[in-house]
Amino acid sequence: MTEILIKARNVQKSFGTHHVLKGIDLDITKGEVLAIIGPSGSGKSTFLRCMNFLEEYDHGEIWFGTELVGYRKAANGSLVKDKASRIAAIRTRMGMVFQNFNLFPHMSVLENVIEGPTVVQRRDRAEVIAQAKVLLDRVGLAAKVDDYPETLSGGQQQRAAIARALAMNPELMLFDEPTSALDPELVGEVLDVMRSLAADGMTMAVVTHEMGFAREVADRVMMMDDGNRVEIDTPERIFTNPSHPRTAEFLQRVL
Ligand code: ADP
Ligand code: MG
Repeated sequence: MTEILIKARNVQKSFGTHHVLKGIDLDITKGEVLAIIGPSGSGKSTFLRCMNFLEEYDHGEIWFGTELVGYRKAANGSLVKDKASRIAAIRTRMGMVFQNFNLFPHMSVLENVIEGPTVVQRRDRAEVIAQAKVLLDRVGLAAKVDDYPETLSGGQQQRAAIARALAMNPELMLFDEPTSALDPELVGEVLDVMRSLAADGMTMAVVTHEMGFAREVADRVMMMDDGNRVEIDTPERIFTNPSHPRTAEFLQRVL
């Protein structure tokens, strides 16, 4: 049976009078890799951030497993914003990787990776350090554990950020253009780490402009435009036979 990890229904979001998400529906099944593509300003980041409630959606529902993200249902059926502690608890179950790495600059690579598990999850420090070293080895940073972010290349920083997210043992990984800030020669090493995560069965939602990666690694590709889900399909269909002219037009521009 396919288990649905994320279920989004009619998700809408406005910034002031600007209607940025116009009713997004999406299911992400466990183990699936979803690539989200579309022009700049189409709402990709906003939607991704709604999944872990870094951005508050203002209409519709997002379910993470059996949990409604960010809200609880009042007796009359209306949605009421949830307690901060519950929002934080749901958020720790999703790892997020940002375009600009967002490592803590005053902490070594190892300290960056163990911070969340020891402080937020209050797990045993020795056990967390052991896991962190395995993760850092896995992303190719075994030799960099004691180094500070500013001494690392962008590719190394992003790999450290991925290890940091994985250290929380997330059930879902959200990536927002993880390679867009990298020099071209460093993109591959980050995509390789993501490819290996996908092969291991991690559930992933990846906003990306790397069409090669989307085509090769994603199970499905969602095309967004102007706050709408234009279409969602296999990479094969999206890249060779898109059903929507907006997708064809977008791909023509970026490929
Ligand atoms: P994408 O990631 O597809 O480039 P975004 O989700 O970042 O698009 O943005 C969608 C639209 O929402 C853009 O027009 C953007 O300017 C606007 N927007 C995003 N974040 C904010 C914010 N915090 N305040 C006001 N407008 C925002
Ligand atoms: Mg964005």
